Formats: sequence, C-alpha cells, structure tokens
Amino acid sequence: MKAAVIHGPGDIRIEDIPYPILEPGEVIVRIGACGVCGSDLPRALDGKAHFYPTVVGHEAAGEVVEVGAEVTRFDPGDRVAVAPLVPCMECEACQLGRYSLCRQYSFIGSRRQGCMAEYVAIPERSLVPIPKELSYEQAAMLEPATVSLYGLLKVGSLAGTSVTVLGVGTIGLFAVMWAKFLGASQVLAVDINDWKLERARELGADAVVNSKKLSTAEGGLAETIRSLTSGAGCGLAVETAGHPITQVQAVEICANGGRVLYVGTAHEPVHFEAKAFEAIIRKELVIYGSWMSYSAPFPGREWQIAVTALADGALEPSAMITHRFGLADAREAFETLRSCDRAIKVMLLMDDSQR
Ligand SMILES: [Zn+2]
Ligand SMILES: [Zn+2]
Repeated sequence: MKAAVIHGPGDIRIEDIPYPILEPGEVIVRIGACGVCGSDLPRALDGKAHFYPTVVGHEAAGEVVEVGAEVTRFDPGDRVAVAPLVPCMECEACQLGRYSLCRQYSFIGSRRQGCMAEYVAIPERSLVPIPKELSYEQAAMLEPATVSLYGLLKVGSLAGTSVTVLGVGTIGLFAVMWAKFLGASQVLAVDINDWKLERARELGADAVVNSKKLSTAEGGLAETIRSLTSGAGCGLAVETAGHPITQVQAVEICANGGRVLYVGTAHEPVHFEAKAFEAIIRKELVIYGSWMSYSAPFPGREWQIAVTALADGALEPSAMITHRFGLADAREAFETLRSCDRAIKVMLLMDDSQR
C-alpha cells in the first residue's frame, strides 16, 4: 500500500509499505482524507519526528475495512473519524478521565503510524462513527474542531462574554465559530494576515483587527480591544497563534476578572514586561492551559458535540479548506502549509476522484 513516508527533514517519499497488521481490539481504516496540521510541519520538514522513517497524519477520516478480534462497535463499511490519542487508560490521569495528561500515551501520526497512507490500524476506542452527511474531508476537520472546543468548554460559560481570538489559523477560526455557537456576545479576531482575517469575518467574527497595522502611539492592541468592548477589554482571550507577542497580548487585552485560554504551542521564550505580568495580578485574571481534546468517556463530549454540529450544519468549516492534494503530492502539501500565506487547512485526499 502507498504511504507518504518521511525519511528526514524534507525527505518525503511516496512508497509502498506493508499493509498494517490487524491486532485484537483494532480496526483497519481505508483513509479517505487527512488534514495537514501545523504540528506535522516540524516532523516532516525540520527533523523533529519521534523516529524515522515515519508516517504522520492525525486529522483523518475513512472507511472501516477490517475489524480485529474483540472489536464490538464497528463493522466493515462503517464511516469513521480518527481521535488520534491512544491513552494507556491505566495511569492516574486516565483513571480521572484527564487523557491529555496520560503518562504513557501513544498518538496516531507521531508515536505510531499516521494516516497519510492508504490504510492504517487504529484502536477501536480511537475511532468515532460519523454520519453519511459528513464527507471524509469534513470529518477530517473534527480533530482540530475538538481542540478549540475542548479549551472553550474548559473555561466555563461564554454566555454574554466578549471573546477575542488571537491568531486565525485553523484552531483560531474554529475558536471563532465555537465561541459564537456557545453564546459569546461578541467575537473579535486578531491576526497579522488580512486575508485570513477576512475568512474570520466570513465565519462569524463581529470585528477583525490586523495587529501589525496598529501604532503603539494609539495604545496598541489593548487600546483597540478596549475601544471595541465599550472600554472594558475582553472577558476571554483565546491565544492560538503560539507566538510570544500574542502570548503577552492575551493578558493585556483582558477585562478585570477576565479569562485567558492558551492553546497555541510555544516555540520561543515568552517575555512578559513587569507591567504585562502585573496585569494578571491586578486584573485578577484566570489563566487556563489547554492540551488536546479528550474527556470521559473517551474520546469525550467534544467529539460528540463536534460531529453533531458539523453534520447538522451548525458549524460549517469548509471555507477553511484552502488547498487539496492527492497523496502523491504530500510533500507539496507540507510546503504549501508552511509557505503560502493563503493556506489555512491543507487537505490530502486519498482518492483522486474526490478532488
Ligand atoms: Zn493537529
Ligand atoms: Zn494513561
């Protein structure tokens, strides 16, 4: 079977690899679509994979073709999405249902074979049934959708809250849509890319701000957000860019008693000036960290809510899919996500007829 095999930094080859071995409790899925995640780029292009050669891809959906012994919930022909965490289910965190804190987890597409392949073996527990109203590429959007939703559910009620989303890549755009869905009174989107900000507006943001175009003389982003929120600042800042500037701005733009949700992963040191750090103290902010998207019973309510919202059209993320490639062009898919400033979600479609 064909797979996009990464042998080293940027060394991505379409190769024949052995068909997966079907273990008890596991299911073989013929992949229909697999999104390229920002977290795949270091693995594919920068030499940061757990091992080489490796096959990445954790935002995927497809059709069950074989089920192993002990599998009870699936039959061949079922349509499924992948919930890529494989928690141990035995450690203290797993016992408490806090799967993203599992001490011995595996993960499809980083620690074990990913979905940029024709077939992949997946533990039954890590599969979510999807209705036929969802195409495979729509269902491949469930994983990033749940990452945003998980964080927003963690911070408590959004009813009547003014929410600012910093960074409008896939996770940020989902945060915009979920914040609306969950009853936020106002959703503001901040980025440095006007084209992506237009997408945020289309997907429901009430106002958008290009923070690169603000002068510090006017008070910078904090002042702009205050002026858009009747002088108060936002009740919740959602940081999805993972950039040291927005990671500091997140606390600066909050209202007194506001909440800050950090979702974007950090790749550089973050420097808080005393005044910015003191904002956390003086404004009595509540800071939340959010990692992955799972709750009990695994994979959790995030997945159920997201399947329903995408299937019934309450959430319509198709506009985020800016590029589609076949498996043969996997390398171009990675490079497009890294270098194209009009790329949001880059999708690999395994079956050329879908393109
Ligand atoms: Zn991802
Ligand atoms: Zn565990």
